[in-house]
Amino acid sequence: MFNSYKKLEKWQKSLIRLSILVTVVFVALGWYTKVQLDTLSANVAALSSNLAILESKFSSTTATLVNSINQNNNSLNNALNQQIQSSAVIAQQLGNYQQQVSTVSSTVSTLQKLSNTDQQLLQKYSKVFFLNEYYAPAKLAAIPGAYEYSETKQLTLQADVWTHLQKLIDDAKSAGVTMYVQSAYRSFNEQSALKSDYKVIYGSGTANSFAADQGYSEHQLGTTVDMIAPGQGGNLDGFDTTKAYTWLLANAYRYGFTLSYPKDNKFYVYEPWHWRFVGIKLATDLRNQGKNFYDLDQRTIDTYLVNFFDIQ
Ligand SMILES: [Zn+2]
Repeated sequence: MFNSYKKLEKWQKSLIRLSILVTVVFVALGWYTKVQLDTLSANVAALSSNLAILESKFSSTTATLVNSINQNNNSLNNALNQQIQSSAVIAQQLGNYQQQVSTVSSTVSTLQKLSNTDQQLLQKYSKVFFLNEYYAPAKLAAIPGAYEYSETKQLTLQADVWTHLQKLIDDAKSAGVTMYVQSAYRSFNEQSALKSDYKVIYGSGTANSFAADQGYSEHQLGTTVDMIAPGQGGNLDGFDTTKAYTWLLANAYRYGFTLSYPKDNKFYVYEPWHWRFVGIKLATDLRNQGKNFYDLDQRTIDTYLVNFFDIQ
């Protein structure tokens, strides 16, 4: 019995030792594990921290890059806009210069045209203002016999005016209306002789009232004609009863001709046969405004000088 008790005590002691040993081993293992976990956790923290630094660096670098790209873009856009604005300014300046050049050249061509156009051609002649006795048209053209009422005397007219009158007579003929030139350019001497003849026939008072003065200067210009129609016995009187006169009233302006002394005008006796070339533009404006050449003031008339020989 005693022996068995001793055995039990011995076993108990062994068991206690084993328990202590197991406990020590567990504690040691626990401690080791904890140390390892702590180390691991520290490493993870360090890695996380590095990662955060890298991310931060990366995003900062990206931001700098994007910023830099944006700045470059802005600079480029600004430069481009400035370039576009400069181009627009240059284009506008060029446009202005071109306009100025064209205005200047148009003025020069107007002046050249004016300097080549005889100032007398659109002058109003009156009982106090005559053409100089030495005046003669620069370039006279002979009127072909077929256009003259009487071929006994060669008639002449300013060359450019004849071009217009010939077209007028041809077009009238095409429309079934015949007319001839009875009188055209008359020099100062011819006019003096004519006036003397009238004086002999009618006496000086009558001669002065219709053959003289205003009409005379217009014939000396070489731009004015007396027209006559067949069947009038060679008389100018009664011309306003002819088809030729009716046609001229309706169409002469289209060829640049106007009736200098219409019925009831304030300036001179009625001369339905006496047509003066004033240029198509002025003749057309006179007709459209229902005015006569002598009703306009000289300053207004002078503005038409530059278009005097224009075809249209
Ligand atoms: Zn006349």
